[in-house]
Amino acid sequence: MDNIKNLFKMTEGSSVSEYDSLRVMHERYERIFKGSHGYGFLDWDIAAQQIHWNGGLWQYLGYSDEDVAQRLADSNQYFNFIHRDDHAKLMGAIRHHLKHDELLEATFRVLKKQGGYIWAEVRASSKRDTAGWVTHISGIVLDITKLKQVEQALVDSEARHARIFEASQDGLWEWSAGENGGFFSSTRCWEMLGFNEGDGMVVQGAEAIKVWRQLMHPDDKPFYDKVLNDHIMKRGPFDVEFRVMGKDGQWRWIRSRGQMTYDEQGEPFRMSGSHIDITELKKSEERVFKAKEAAEKANRAKSEFLSNMSHELRTPLNSILGFAQLLQLDANLSPLQEQNIQEISNAGKHLLRLIDDVLDLAKIEAGKLTLSMEPVVPARLIFECFALVRSQAENNAITLTFEPGEWSEQVVHADNIRLKQVLLNLIINAIKYNRPQGEVKVNLSKQDDDYLRVTVVDTGQGIRHDLQKDIFQPFNRLGAEGTHVEGSGVGLVITQKLVAEMQGRIGFNSEVGKGSQFWVDFRLDKNLDGRPNKGSGLFQPNAVKPMIGEVQLQIASDKQILYIEDNHSNQRLMKQLLSRYPNLQLTMAVDSLRGLYLARRERPDLIILDINLPSMDGYEVLTVLQDDKLTSHIPVIALSANAMEHDIQKGEEAGFKYYLTKPLDINQIINVFNQLLID
Ligand code: ADP
Repeated sequence: MDNIKNLFKMTEGSSVSEYDSLRVMHERYERIFKGSHGYGFLDWDIAAQQIHWNGGLWQYLGYSDEDVAQRLADSNQYFNFIHRDDHAKLMGAIRHHLKHDELLEATFRVLKKQGGYIWAEVRASSKRDTAGWVTHISGIVLDITKLKQVEQALVDSEARHARIFEASQDGLWEWSAGENGGFFSSTRCWEMLGFNEGDGMVVQGAEAIKVWRQLMHPDDKPFYDKVLNDHIMKRGPFDVEFRVMGKDGQWRWIRSRGQMTYDEQGEPFRMSGSHIDITELKKSEERVFKAKEAAEKANRAKSEFLSNMSHELRTPLNSILGFAQLLQLDANLSPLQEQNIQEISNAGKHLLRLIDDVLDLAKIEAGKLTLSMEPVVPARLIFECFALVRSQAENNAITLTFEPGEWSEQVVHADNIRLKQVLLNLIINAIKYNRPQGEVKVNLSKQDDDYLRVTVVDTGQGIRHDLQKDIFQPFNRLGAEGTHVEGSGVGLVITQKLVAEMQGRIGFNSEVGKGSQFWVDFRLDKNLDGRPNKGSGLFQPNAVKPMIGEVQLQIASDKQILYIEDNHSNQRLMKQLLSRYPNLQLTMAVDSLRGLYLARRERPDLIILDINLPSMDGYEVLTVLQDDKLTSHIPVIALSANAMEHDIQKGEEAGFKYYLTKPLDINQIINVFNQLLID
């Protein structure tokens, strides 16, 4: 109201229309002041120690008009409304302003009526009398809390970043183009290399790039440059590892990552990034790599040793089993002789199984087993297994029972051959460790979690409780080594590993005097049902092949066979075998060159080729035969002691009609003759 009176005083004597227009103007200002929420217009009369307030600031802070008129208007009381911590700062700003007559600018916290503070800023200037004394300070006070909050958030975030970078131990760097540009790298970048500020090496700007290039390993520079160049051309991220010489003369590994920024013209103008010291990581990587290499080397050596051993053992076994089979075909033997030959043959077969088992185990352990997972019908495999073990069961008067019931066509997800091997192992054990006139029952049942369970139940002597924990240990026969039951103690280990490889499960229960139950679970393939599955083929060296009587040669016409073999015992075996068939004429070659010569001259109907031949191996001989017009039509089969799975695969791929492994199975080779010598 005072202001209005003043205005009236000023306008005394003015005309009515002037008065009207002043009134209109006054009302307009009143409206503006009232509407200016959060803004306070002040006019501080220094002599009267009064502050005239306009605007809505104080109402905005919850004060009444009385508060403003009585307390806030008194400039001596005004500081009660300002945060104590800001008093000195504000006083200082006022003093500075009075002294230098510059714009008064200060920020401080103002108390709200309900408690708590807002941040405010004052901007004011002064009016001075003729002597230069300030009579009035006038200006504006406004709420800048939001601004302050943003400012504080920025400060906080900057501090947080600084803390993170500090804690992460990463070095930071930035390159910028232009006159004021250059290269900046944080102290940490240098510390990683062992340099400190006082070393003279710690430089910034263009010089820094030079120093870094000097320290970088020369072999790493081209790759570094390529990655950088690709990044600049936007062809890839900048993430590169390189070596830098540290202060101690040792190479340190640094991983550098960064990002280029481009200006509006697409020109690179700033690149920022970080350095991490990865020396320790690299060292452990190297250690792991070396250990892996050593393990792989050892593994290769082991595989090589095993395949050599297998070869070395199979060659004499070929004679043992081969001649035993020949003798068995002799009709003039006494019963005792027959029995003796049977012993030789059994022992030889046992040895062969042992070799196969050990090779199998080694292969699984070396992770070299390749599975072909497919839908398989277990019920069919069980019938196939029964056919294979029937005579063994009959010899011990053991009854085999399998009633698949509703599961006869149920399909599981497994490798056909390997699942058969698993089931066969369990069924053979159930026969071997049974009592005479005992029983072996195989059941199928569905588990709650969509697995099909095959359980093999026997009525044998069971497994002692204290020995059960060792059942899956290789070569541990749990005392069976002292009995007449043949075995090697690796069957169940192989079985367990095969089941695991096929994502199945295995377990057992056993009670001494009553018998055992071994079970395996495989995931059901619910979408499929009853798809026929393949039987095991002729080329499976490890599959148990029954000797079901003598296979008859069905070829009646004269045929000529060339056998290229350097081992005398094997030559004699073949000679004696073929002497049983007068229409099959055998020509023998003891080395590859003679073999090739005979093949061209005689043009036999079939060539049997050993693989491990001196000077020129079986594969080379095969290639020459295939490339020669005179011999390319002649079927060639391999007969080799190289009986690892990869040998067989390689043989088939090379073009052998059949790849037979030693020891020779007479029935098998007669079968092959029946197929290849047809007119
Ligand atoms: P192997 O039969 O060649 O000795 P396995 O690994 O198949 O080797 O079995 C390990 C041992 O577990 C056997 O020697 C035998 O003592 C015991 N065993 C396995 N199956 C049975 C079973 N069905 N009943 C009793 N004992 C068994």
